[in-house]
Amino acid sequence: MIRIEGLSKKFGNLTVLKDINTKIEQGEIISIIGPSGTGKSTFLRCINLLETPSGGKIFIDNIDILDKKTDVPKIRQKMGMVFQSFNIFSHLTVLENLTIGPVKLLNIPFNEAKEKAMDLLKMVGLAEKADFFADELSGGQKQRIAIARCLSMNPEIILFDEPTSALDPTMVSEVLAVIRRLAKNGMTMLIVTHEMDFAKDVSTRVFYMDEGIIYEEGTPQDIFNNPKNEKTKSFINRIRNLHFTINTPNYDLYKLNAEIEYFFEKHIISKRNTHSTLLVIEELLTIYSNYFNVFNIELIIEFSEKHNTINIHFKYFGDENNLLESEELEDEISLSLIKNLCESFDYIFEDNYNKINISLRN
Ligand code: ADP
Ligand code: MG
Repeated sequence: MIRIEGLSKKFGNLTVLKDINTKIEQGEIISIIGPSGTGKSTFLRCINLLETPSGGKIFIDNIDILDKKTDVPKIRQKMGMVFQSFNIFSHLTVLENLTIGPVKLLNIPFNEAKEKAMDLLKMVGLAEKADFFADELSGGQKQRIAIARCLSMNPEIILFDEPTSALDPTMVSEVLAVIRRLAKNGMTMLIVTHEMDFAKDVSTRVFYMDEGIIYEEGTPQDIFNNPKNEKTKSFINRIRNLHFTINTPNYDLYKLNAEIEYFFEKHIISKRNTHSTLLVIEELLTIYSNYFNVFNIELIIEFSEKHNTINIHFKYFGDENNLLESEELEDEISLSLIKNLCESFDYIFEDNYNKINISLRN
């Protein structure tokens, strides 16, 4: 139904979409996820020509929509778009919002349009609000009206751009429930969303967008339970990183500790885990400076908000010093202290780097 080849979009010098290629079949429900600023909105806006792509091709029902001969308004009518900021007319009643398009643009007789509007209002649970002004409704109700209005134009495809991001948390589910209903009825939809649980159970496929491309795509199962690429993994597991470079024996341990504590407080990590992390890092630094005279260390602390786990990555360039097999360290109390606090503790020597990966016991 939608075929996209080599789609790119630049704003001046800024390349937002680099090279998007995909095919979407009728009835598919595609969730588009990814960090903000990665071009998710731009992607949707290119599909319905609110933005003019800089390169590439978009076919809707095998019609090249970027071809100059294409009837753009007709193509656009096949697509409805629902925005974050409920685009409905606040000076019109709910019913007028739903009839104005069909009457003026599709030349449908008013009574017919009204009948359809009432059906749609029933479907989104707002029939009793038909004569209210849009302004008198809550955010969740406005967004449901926006969806009903979009449906009043008989679209074949609906593009949702973060339809629940502007809502109070209490109203998110009423809007998601309506979208789920459309999904059940077989509507083809592309949904940019931050609601991961929703994306997981409503979609047929998930696109993770990053770096101007569809960086990873797959079934919800693939993307949420078994993401392959590093960036997808960090996004899905909501991994927060803290990086340090320690390149002097006189490094400031107090400052390092204070930054770790600040980071952990910000992410509401327990005192016990904070304490363990600080201890592990201090002991590791002690071992490496005392036994191996190493002072070019990169330290990364990763916290997964989703799994509430802490991983510590410690690496440096130099000769192989496998502290797990080191005889000097056998009786070292630092090492046993670290091991006690860890769920797992791996040492790898790779490309002249000593790498230690630690998962903290939770
Ligand atoms: P997302 O929806 O993933 O958060 P957007 O598609 O809104 O990302 O934006 C991607 C990038 O393109 C951002 O850096 C944004 O500032 C830029 N951008 C979006 N629209 C325009 C525009 N009309 N003019 C200039 N830059 C834009
Ligand atoms: Mg956006």
